[in-house]
Amino acid sequence: MNATIDALARIVGPAHVLAGEVVGDVAVPGVAATLVRPADASQVAAVVARCYADGVAIVPVGGRSGLAGGAAVVDADADVIALSLERLRAVRSFQPALWRMEAEAGVTTATIARLARESGLRFPPDPGAPEQSQLGGTIATNAGGPHAFKYGVTGDWVTGIEAVLAPGEIVRVGGALRKDVAGYDLRALLTGSEGTLGVVTAAWLRFVPAPAAQLPIVVAYPDAAAGCAALLRVLESGVEPAALEYFDEATMRACGIAFPDGALRGFVVVAEADGSAAEAERVLAELREALAEGADAMLEPRSPRALWRWRDGVSSAVAAVRGAKRSEDVAVPVDRLREAIAATLRIGARHDLPACSWGHAGDGNLHATFLLQPGDAAQRARADAAAGELFELALALGGTVTGEHGIGLLKAGQLRRQWAPAAVAAQRAIKVALDPKGLFNPGKKQP
Ligand SMILES: Cc1cc2nc3c(=O)[nH]c(=O)nc-3n(C[C@H](O)[C@H](O)[C@H](O)COP(=O)(O)OP(=O)(O)OC[C@H]3O[C@@H](n4cnc5c(N)ncnc54)[C@H](O)[C@@H]3O)c2cc1C
Repeated sequence: MNATIDALARIVGPAHVLAGEVVGDVAVPGVAATLVRPADASQVAAVVARCYADGVAIVPVGGRSGLAGGAAVVDADADVIALSLERLRAVRSFQPALWRMEAEAGVTTATIARLARESGLRFPPDPGAPEQSQLGGTIATNAGGPHAFKYGVTGDWVTGIEAVLAPGEIVRVGGALRKDVAGYDLRALLTGSEGTLGVVTAAWLRFVPAPAAQLPIVVAYPDAAAGCAALLRVLESGVEPAALEYFDEATMRACGIAFPDGALRGFVVVAEADGSAAEAERVLAELREALAEGADAMLEPRSPRALWRWRDGVSSAVAAVRGAKRSEDVAVPVDRLREAIAATLRIGARHDLPACSWGHAGDGNLHATFLLQPGDAAQRARADAAAGELFELALALGGTVTGEHGIGLLKAGQLRRQWAPAAVAAQRAIKVALDPKGLFNPGKKQP
């Protein structure tokens, strides 16, 4: 291992090989490891080549905002390095008139959104930690966010990927292209691969013209039954909101006090109309009608930015109630959302843990959460058991154990519950084909 580290220092410069860095993400704190910070794609390739030759594992690290432990180093004794993409920060090209950009993996999600906005464009993926998360990590988790309901997830906005594959080769699939079916879809395969198939060094992105108007509407209901009925009425009405979110009563007790337009309680639905001014007004009028029945309160915030900033803080506000939480991101068919919300509370009660949920209602994606006191091992064990029941529930309802955060470390092994053995074997065969030595992010994503 020492010879490898010396060689890596010669590649990236000794100042960029940091010994004893604790490498984890939001969900898993991780342990001390050697963090290597290459400056560009060719240095990434050289680092991977040396590690691959020496049998040293590589944990790709982005902004460490992940919620599944994907970027965490957990075995202090293993031959492993953490490979940070933070210095790959160039926007290689930006052509606003053609609605496209080529950017390196370390550019933050917020930077991409800002550059797009300043040119009258929009990069729709909006996972909730934009200042922290990086393009590479956002692609590697295929992150979603509130506006995925209308606009899709990160992968829908990636037209090409540059990546370093084993044993240390730079490959480019796709590019500044809107269509490409020449080969198997390696671009899609790398998207959401959680650093287990290679290292993303850059990507080509596509944008859309920014909508002229974004008009949110916020509606409070007495309970989940009334709120979920309203959600289904929105879908039945045929109107397409840009976002369709929910927050159950317990979640609102934690974060409703900070709601930008005044304290809010109940089961809350947030929807947003967008488009040209006239189109957004039309959609808003239809949303008002679909959401009205059974509502206790309805308001139309004039600042979408303040609303979505509040939305970004919901997870932290919920964690603050007892100091810690176990949050999952199961997804179910949208017509089963109400059952999943109710069952989350029942599971929490069975394990003597306060529970709540909120999430991307239109996508049937729940952040089902169990509240804990930090450092209480018994509560942590009960939360693990509760999470197991939650996964069973999601699958029984026709859903998935993870709608957007990925399998990472926290849900390792869960795929076997969800997929038939032949499908699991196909995933395993892909891993072995692209990473024959099993050195890219071992222990993550795999069944
Ligand atoms: C407050 C908060 C809200 C969030 N809201 C959402 C949300 O609404 N929707 C959602 O989907 N996610 C959400 N997330 C999760 C997180 O923001 C996303 O998963 C994020 O985009 C990950 O990016 P990152 O750069 O921080 O990746 P990291 O956490 O650093 O890494 C994530 C995974 O990607 C791999 N990886 C990182 N960089 C690369 C690379 N260049 N090449 C290959 N693999 C790589 C890592 O090994 C790891 O497996 C939220 C997180 C927080 C803290």
